[in-house]
Formats: sequence, structure tokens, C-alpha cells
Amino acid sequence: MNALVQSLAALSGLRDRDALDAALVRLVISSSEGAVHSATLVRVVGEGDDRRCLVQARLDAGQTQVSRDLLWTDWTTLPHVSDFPLRQLAVDRARAVHAETAPYTGVIPLLTAQGTWGLLEFGTEQPLSAAMLDLVEGILLTYNNLLGLLDYGEKDALTELLNRKTFDGAFFKATAEQHGDELPDGGERRHPHPDAGVWLAVLDIDHFKRVNDTYGHLIGDEVLLLLARLMRSSFRFHDQLYRFGGEEFVVLMRCDSAEHASQALERLREKVQAYAFPQVGTITVSIGFSVLLPHDTPSGAFGRADKAVYHAKEHGRNQVCSYQGLVASGDLVEQVAEGMDVDLF
Ligand code: GH3
Ligand code: MG
Ligand code: MG
Repeated sequence: MNALVQSLAALSGLRDRDALDAALVRLVISSSEGAVHSATLVRVVGEGDDRRCLVQARLDAGQTQVSRDLLWTDWTTLPHVSDFPLRQLAVDRARAVHAETAPYTGVIPLLTAQGTWGLLEFGTEQPLSAAMLDLVEGILLTYNNLLGLLDYGEKDALTELLNRKTFDGAFFKATAEQHGDELPDGGERRHPHPDAGVWLAVLDIDHFKRVNDTYGHLIGDEVLLLLARLMRSSFRFHDQLYRFGGEEFVVLMRCDSAEHASQALERLREKVQAYAFPQVGTITVSIGFSVLLPHDTPSGAFGRADKAVYHAKEHGRNQVCSYQGLVASGDLVEQVAEGMDVDLF
């Protein structure tokens, strides 16, 4: 089989986003027969003038290891899109652009209806030919279609938040990065905040049955959709938002301290309370959260956050409760799973 066709077939067999991103940059380089010397897939995060670049995958010709930024990279350390004039131009024009003089760089935007979510940047030794641009654009189209299929399987159709299916994988990735199991490129790990960690929050709408009973399921669904939007606008680009089913949502977020985690969730709670939902008016949410522990399991962490939600429901709803806080105050009794470290909070 032709090498390119073979590589495309391998690409279409991948079901993991990171693996797909890595395969894309490999393929751009390998299919160019030496013409492309580097390929970088960049995710554009943030909005307006504060759009920044997060490297999803980067490969230089002759190297085997694909590198990328850590998932939990500190926002403030990411370079702005405007630091790279060609990338900025590709975003502004929403089409491929390339440098006419050395260094010969091409940038192709990856677009959705909402705008540019990513960029593929690649460097060539010679001025970029139309045939080369065609080839890279073709590969990118295939990649984008595959990504669309992954999204279809991993996202909740109503809210477009992640669905429960992807949670376990993301959970283990988050804990691995948090505890230093994965160091890209052997780089040194920085610990800017000794209290930094990953928190898991569970959010449940208060008295949602009443919304359905009073206004019907369609209006209920609209509330879910609007709530998902409020969540998206509340959290940072690397926080992962899930609809776990029904009117229950989960957030996996990295924060510098328990206090910051609590503040972020409190802000969301206030935002929801202040929002005028069409027809329904005000709704409120109860939120419980817990820090992730070493050797934690998805069900263990979820169970702790869920206990905190239950406590919030029992004590007036419309509030944010911390599992660790409730244990410290004696309101909840710590349940220790077998083999679990407990000396870490
Ligand atoms: P609580 O404050 O104790 O959480 O009260 P609640 O009424 O919200 O109770 P609970 O969380 O147990 O109820 C979940 C309700 O959410 C049941 C069902 O009517 C509604 N629901 C679940 N999934 C969906 C959905 O996909 N669409 C709509 N419209 N409603 C849903
Ligand atoms: Mg519920
Ligand atoms: Mg509820």
C-alpha cells in the first residue's frame, strides 16, 4: 500500500485525541518527503485580544519524540497569538497563509462555526509550493473529520459538554500530570504553588423536577443548555466540563489552592442564581467538591464530591460544599478506601 494511504488508514484507527494530534504532525512531516522540517499543532485558547497558543503536538524532522505543552499549563505563561504575526494573520483571515521569504512558514487555521480553534504551523526549506499546501490541507481535512467523529462519540448532544464516557481516561491523565508521572521532553517540573492540585466538583440543579413538571421537558432541556453555557464561560480553558447525565454536571479543574477552587465554584453558583432563564426565571445549583488524592479512583473522587452535594442539598441547597471542609468541621465522617493514602490533606 502507498505509504500515505497507509498512514491515513492508521490515523483513522486512532480513538485518542493526543495520539491523533501526534499522528497528524508525524504525517505532515513524513508525507512531505523531506520538504517539511517541522510541524506544530497549536490550540487557540481564550477570546478577543487575549487569545493564546497551547502546543498540542510538535515534531521536528529527524526526531522521534512528539512534544506538547502540559494540559495544566499556567495560562499566563502561554504566548499570545499576536506574538506570531503569521498565526495572527491566519486567525484574522480564517484561511491558510504563508511567508514569501525565509524562514518559510505556513499556517493553516482549523475552523468551526465559532471561529478558529487551532492552527497547524509548518516550516519548509524551500518556498511553499501549491502542491505541498494542497497535501497538508488534505491531511488536515482528514484529521478534522476524524476529530469530528471523536467529538460525536465523546460529547453530550444537548450541551456539547463532554459525556461520562471520557471521564475515567481524563481523570487518570489529570492525576498523572499532577503527580509528575509524565514529563514531556524531560523538562523540569515547576511547582509555582505548593498547594496546587486538581479538584473534582459535582453540580446538581436544585428542584429540577419542578421545572420539568411546571414548564415541560423542552424548557427543562433549554435550562440544561443555558447552564452548560454559563459553566463554559465560568471556567478556564483547561478545566474539563462534563454532563454526567440528567441534570448532573462534573468539573475537573486545576487550581492553585482549595480556596481558589472554592471561589471558582462559588462564582458559578452566583452566576447561575443571577441568570434569568427564559420562562423559568431563577434556578439554583448545589455543588460539592473534593481534591484529588494520590492513587485516587474516578469513583472514589466522585463519591466524595457527591457526599458534599448531598450535604448541600440537606442544608438548604444553593450552596458550595467542600468534602475536605466538611470532614474537618466534623459534618462528615471520612471514609477511607482500602489502600488509599489519607495523609495528604
Ligand atoms: P434536588 O434539588 O434534590 O436535586 O431536586 P431535583 O428535583 O432536581 O431532584 P433530582 O436531582 O433527583 O431530579 C432529577 C430530575 O431531572 C428528574 C428529571 O425530571 C430531570 N431530568 C433528568 N434528566 C433530564 C433531561 O435530560 N432533560 C430534562 N428536561 N429533565 C431531566
Ligand atoms: Mg440529580
Ligand atoms: Mg437536582
